Amino acid sequence: MFRETITHQGGTTNGNASEAHAMLILRRAVTRGYTIDASTDGGATVSWTARRFGVGTQVIEAPRSIELVPHLPVGNALTVRTCEDLLLIDSERHPATYDPEARVITGGIWRIPPAASARLRARGLVHAGDDNSVRLTLVTRLALIARDHRTRTTEPEGWHRPGPNDPPSAGLNKPGRRAGMLHSSASVAICECGEFSRHCGDREEARRAATAHRRDEFTTYLKLLTAAPTPV
Ligand SMILES: [Zn+2]
Repeated sequence: MFRETITHQGGTTNGNASEAHAMLILRRAVTRGYTIDASTDGGATVSWTARRFGVGTQVIEAPRSIELVPHLPVGNALTVRTCEDLLLIDSERHPATYDPEARVITGGIWRIPPAASARLRARGLVHAGDDNSVRLTLVTRLALIARDHRTRTTEPEGWHRPGPNDPPSAGLNKPGRRAGMLHSSASVAICECGEFSRHCGDREEARRAATAHRRDEFTTYLKLLTAAPTPV
């Protein structure tokens, strides 16, 4: 379950969204090319610009968004061990089921001990259906993808002494106390996934590049997830 905040023409409206409804919102966002942000707590924000005709040929643009905040935020629940268990549950080769007698989640060749199985369910990380099939919840999936793509930007060097790779005369024409110094506002955007780093002219540009990378990854992932034949 999510708390849903919709920003529309008349202000904001709060309500609740079931997992199925949240999936619907995300599927529509993917189809329409809206901006999607995921949070490490398992929430998501969809934003877009609404356009309508004003007087004559005037087009009025207004920001719109839907924010989904989980009732049970993931918080610090995703330890290394928990992530390993979630990986087992998510494997397609051995579908996970809940054994109510032994009170364990099992995939046949593996089983998660009762205490850990109970914790996964109590924290809302997995959902056990009426037929005892077990799957990850949407909250868990959003938190995992957001954690995979945590980005940072490096601090620009600013004024600094020339390094071994700079020409010997570098910075000598600078006035006052900055003679012999070089200035760099360059910043690098880096993602924890290890597959993205970009050298940018300044930190603002690096922040924009990092945000664009995260959003690309969320959209690609949600495209696959919302196209899956089974819910979540
Ligand atoms: Zn990444």
